[in-house]
Amino acid sequence: MKKISLKTIYLVALSAVFSVSFLMFVVFDLQSQQKQTEAAMLEEARTFAREMDAVWQFMDNSQTVINTAVDGSYEFKGLHCSKVGKSVGALFSKGSDYTIRYTNFNPRNVQDEPDGFEAKALESFNADSSITEHYEVADFQGAERFRYAQALEVDKSCLECHGEPAGEIDITGKAKEGWTLDSVGGAISIVIPLDQQQQAVRDNVVRDVVYFLLITLLIGAVVYAVTTVFVFRPLNCMKLAFAEMGEGRLAVSLDDANAAKEISRLIERFNSTAAELHAIYGHLEEQVESRTDDLRKANTALERQRDTLEHLNTELAKETQFKSDLLSMVNHELRTPLTSIITFAQISREACPPDRESERHSWEEIEKNSQILLAMINDMLDIARSDAGSIRTACEPMDLGDIVCAVKGTMTPLAQKYSVAFCTQVSSDVPLVNGDFEKTQRMLENLASNAIKFTPDGGTVELSINVDESDGSVRMRMADDGIGIAPEDQERIFERFFQVDSTSTRKYNGSGLGLALVREYAAVQGFSVSVESELGRGSIFVISIPSGLIVG
Ligand code: ADP
Repeated sequence: MKKISLKTIYLVALSAVFSVSFLMFVVFDLQSQQKQTEAAMLEEARTFAREMDAVWQFMDNSQTVINTAVDGSYEFKGLHCSKVGKSVGALFSKGSDYTIRYTNFNPRNVQDEPDGFEAKALESFNADSSITEHYEVADFQGAERFRYAQALEVDKSCLECHGEPAGEIDITGKAKEGWTLDSVGGAISIVIPLDQQQQAVRDNVVRDVVYFLLITLLIGAVVYAVTTVFVFRPLNCMKLAFAEMGEGRLAVSLDDANAAKEISRLIERFNSTAAELHAIYGHLEEQVESRTDDLRKANTALERQRDTLEHLNTELAKETQFKSDLLSMVNHELRTPLTSIITFAQISREACPPDRESERHSWEEIEKNSQILLAMINDMLDIARSDAGSIRTACEPMDLGDIVCAVKGTMTPLAQKYSVAFCTQVSSDVPLVNGDFEKTQRMLENLASNAIKFTPDGGTVELSINVDESDGSVRMRMADDGIGIAPEDQERIFERFFQVDSTSTRKYNGSGLGLALVREYAAVQGFSVSVESELGRGSIFVISIPSGLIVG
């Protein structure tokens, strides 16, 4: 249905209604015309029958007059009612298409023998005395005719010639039939031609049909014209307007001058919707325009920033290059001579005779400070490598017990120097873990050197390693009973170059990079570092190795 236009549906519906009404009208008109014609012919036949009956009665009543001679004697002239009736009928029929005749099952004359229609009528009269007439369109001498038959009632006058006893010769010289008053004395049969009436029916039907066609066509044309002007045309205009809107031309307005009330309301609604859309679209366009302008400006700003970034990037690349050059320079130009200084200071200290104590002390100081300087340079180099992303980390099974031994080896002299007890303890259930041996050792050394450094003489530093039962991680714990760290500094001490006491007159030397390195080494290996401390009571640094890094 969606593909068929409203106009087509409308035309098909109109045509269907028209065709059905036309057919019904033709059938109805034909039937009613035929009924009317039949009624008219029946009435005509009845009139003929009454007339013939009147002739018959007249002759019956006039018998005495007719058969009385001039001298007053009775002289039968043979002009009886039957003969006159038949003769009048014959005369009437002659020269016309009408036929009036009398018939009987046992006629005295052969030509009065009943044909098929008449025999049927006589049978029905004999069978039922209440039936007095019979009619139908039936064949007569090879053509369709309106046939009418009326029963002839037997009265006393009939019995004279046709009554009892049967076989007795009547006044006309014929044998009597033996009728009684109950008998049917035959029938008057009337034949009326159909041609004229049928022609009249045809003419009437044709006239009515033409009239009907003219009326319906006129009505159809008016209905179609009205619907086209008041419905289809405005709808078509709306369709075109919708198409225009679909193409983006929203400034459309329809004229509802020729539209019916309902369509006019629809057009009004359409016009207001189109106007609203037009306004919204206009506003949208403005907004899009302004947003596009904003975007353009933002784009220009971005381009400017990109240029600045590119410039900064170039600068950064230069600085990185410079840093890298500086690193290799520091690595080569500072570490090489410093290593030589330390070696020569060691050799000179060992070669110093026992009686030159002050000279020995000087070599010791040179060696110690050079060591500090070398450690500082190493820290700085590591930090710089970390920034450059060139820090490499091994991930291989390592025995933490071995690391603790190594740390103890390097840290014991320092602890002795600061008069601090340095003890280590490794639980027997500590497993092998994956990590970088050197970096882990360096982390523990940094923590241990800090702990020794910030613990007064006579204090204790303990490095212990065990497994945390709660989560299966391995914990490396560096505890001291030194000066402690204030709560507000506990997070900041891991920042680069941060020192709690950063004054030039500070008691403890250092670069402020040790803990920063500890945290970065922990991060690259997947470890974590935390601190707990109380001023004046000591600090505990814990490195946690998650259970996922345990070997096996
Ligand atoms: P530094 O070279 O100064 O030791 P670190 O990064 O190793 O640099 O430490 C930063 C600061 O944290 C130290 O200067 C010190 O003030 C504080 N600190 C580190 N470890 C301890 C500790 N065990 N006890 C008290 N303070 C500490």
